Amino acid sequence: MTWEYTQPVRILFGCGKKDEISAVAKREGLTRGFLVCDKFLAESGLAEALSADSGGVLIGIFHDIQPNPTVTSVDACAEEIRKAGADFVVALGGGSAMDVAKAAAVLAQTDDSVVKYHGTGVTLPESGLPIIALPTTAGTGSEVTPVSVLTNEEKGKKAPMLSPAFYPIVAIIDPELTYTVPRKVVAQTGLDVLCHAVEAYMSIGHQPICDALAIQATRLVFAYVSKAAVGDKEAQDQMALASLLAGLAFGQPKTGAPHACSFVLTTRYGIPHGEACALTLDYFLEIAALGEPVRLQDFAQQVGFHSVEALADEIRLLKKSLGLLTDLKTFQLTDEDIQTLVKESQRPNMLNSPVRITEDMLFTLYENMC
Ligand code: NAD
Repeated sequence: MTWEYTQPVRILFGCGKKDEISAVAKREGLTRGFLVCDKFLAESGLAEALSADSGGVLIGIFHDIQPNPTVTSVDACAEEIRKAGADFVVALGGGSAMDVAKAAAVLAQTDDSVVKYHGTGVTLPESGLPIIALPTTAGTGSEVTPVSVLTNEEKGKKAPMLSPAFYPIVAIIDPELTYTVPRKVVAQTGLDVLCHAVEAYMSIGHQPICDALAIQATRLVFAYVSKAAVGDKEAQDQMALASLLAGLAFGQPKTGAPHACSFVLTTRYGIPHGEACALTLDYFLEIAALGEPVRLQDFAQQVGFHSVEALADEIRLLKKSLGLLTDLKTFQLTDEDIQTLVKESQRPNMLNSPVRITEDMLFTLYENMC
């Protein structure tokens, strides 16, 4: 058994920790911070309050960011950071804002457009401006990953970019920041957490530290996501922890087939990220168990179920009880649409599955959902 685990992000966790941005910056010798958040957080007053409380450390803000953030947003954000002469970036938001901030922090130190790197195989610069990340959803774990997921709107292509420069130097996880997330979004992001944990465990790149993190994150999701989705604050605190643990769990094994399928389900049918990932999770879990029966049986038991089938059934029930999609019937797909889905689901992380996922398997999966 050989493996490696790297985790360069300093992590601060706890309610009220959001007020420590300037203290954290000072400790790092940083003085000119640029805040990147989405429109909701800018309009809610949170971004303004953080800037006002920063004692002049936060010198600018960019908030032109939508869900499934675009390469255009990243280029515009990088330009604003350059103009402001910032020496660090504060990434405040769900995965969408954090991913723009991470990419812009690196691009701001170049004259490049992110288009040069997104989906092209061109290696990103090895360093960028330091990033302090504060997640406001309990979902992506982006605050501890070397990943930025962007959409090239012209090409209609959503894809992850990877670079060690995307690791924030500090992640401040303040669960209170998640209390305003709408209930449906709590459910969607909560199942993204479940996907990260289960996919990390299923990945051919699995390793013991990430396995332990994945098991604990999965237990927390089953215990708390339903309560979090009806506004129980203690459950939301636990989901903030689950999201962090799951982010740490998948950073190295990477995500797998459910995420590979999610990109096309989101770009073609607008299904929100976590919901799109969860749509196929139970199916791929049962497939993975054909390749790694002992490992997956052990996982099912560790997270409280007597078999992989029982765990998959619980995932189906959870989606239903949270009001999330369990099939694709609403989209009335034709055979041609299904063929397109099959083709566009073949993304690099499909190869992380312990069982080779064939086009026939994908066709059957999607056909059964229609
Ligand atoms: P999101 O960032 O798109 O936010 C979803 C919605 O919630 C938005 O409307 C946003 O304004 C709102 N919102 C966010 N925080 C809020 C708050 N505190 N109160 C009220 N509303 C709030 O959603 P997400 O699920 O956090 O991120 C999804 C994106 O992250 C996808 O693009 C996905 O591909 C990507 N992702 C990235 C990584 C990574 O490691 N970089 C991992 C997983 C997913």
